[in-house]
Amino acid sequence: MTADRASIDQLRLDICEVGRRMYARGYTASNDGNISVRLGDDRLLMTPTAVCKGFMTPDMMCITDLDGRKLEGERNPSSEMKMHLEVYRHRPDARAVCHAHPPTATGFAVAGIPLDKAVLAEVLTTLGSIPIAEYATPSTAELPAAVRKFVKAHDGMLLANHGALTLGADLFSAYYKMETIEHFAKISLVARQLGRENLLAREEVERLQQLRGTYGIKAPAPICADGAADSSDGPATCQVVQSPAGDGQRLVPELAGLPGRLDLSGDRGDREIRLTYRELSALIEDAIRALGPS
Ligand SMILES: [Zn+2]
Repeated sequence: MTADRASIDQLRLDICEVGRRMYARGYTASNDGNISVRLGDDRLLMTPTAVCKGFMTPDMMCITDLDGRKLEGERNPSSEMKMHLEVYRHRPDARAVCHAHPPTATGFAVAGIPLDKAVLAEVLTTLGSIPIAEYATPSTAELPAAVRKFVKAHDGMLLANHGALTLGADLFSAYYKMETIEHFAKISLVARQLGRENLLAREEVERLQQLRGTYGIKAPAPICADGAADSSDGPATCQVVQSPAGDGQRLVPELAGLPGRLDLSGDRGDREIRLTYRELSALIEDAIRALGPS
């Protein structure tokens, strides 16, 4: 399958649009970040090196083959091209890749805290867990090697002390996963500041997994049975999601009543609180608003 000239022109415009959105939302600063799209079976359209993603024009893009050789374009392809090539090599279903440094998600990547807890239904259905690929020097072959461990089983991951990487069946789906990761990171941070992170029970996580089939969501890989990673050291084939056994309950308080933490329940903090998803979302939205502009 090859892309014709008109659709390539549209993809050039789409990459500029996604670059503008990433820059406007503060996911990149200066010349950070890079975006690529698969053109048919053997070519990629990619952002060039050393340009701000907020101010790109369609003519700046490069076309490369799947080994990274430049076929078209006046500028050189992104310095992180090897990481993109690695994704396309291992994920035939991936048609676009986004890399950025969204500050809250990158904060988790710096702290070494993966976003792997069962907290939000939409994150569980679209991304599942978001692990952290080991630190690697940007632009070297180390980075694709670090990404390789998770790329088969995940559509989004954090890169230790660096940023985040997402892939999708088209450009906007890869970009929206970047938005979801940053949004989830903000919500997780607020919940932890509030001192309580109620996790969804494993029964609910399984129910959400079944819904993926209903909505035709095939990627990323399913959640590992029993919540444990496969024992091999090789690439992950399923996702580790932290969710407690619920004994029939669908929402399980994680660690209630820790000393020194805020207790919003008005109780001693060791009692279960029950919230609908709507109430939980409203509480989190309020808390984010109270923190001021992001
Ligand atoms: Zn980067």
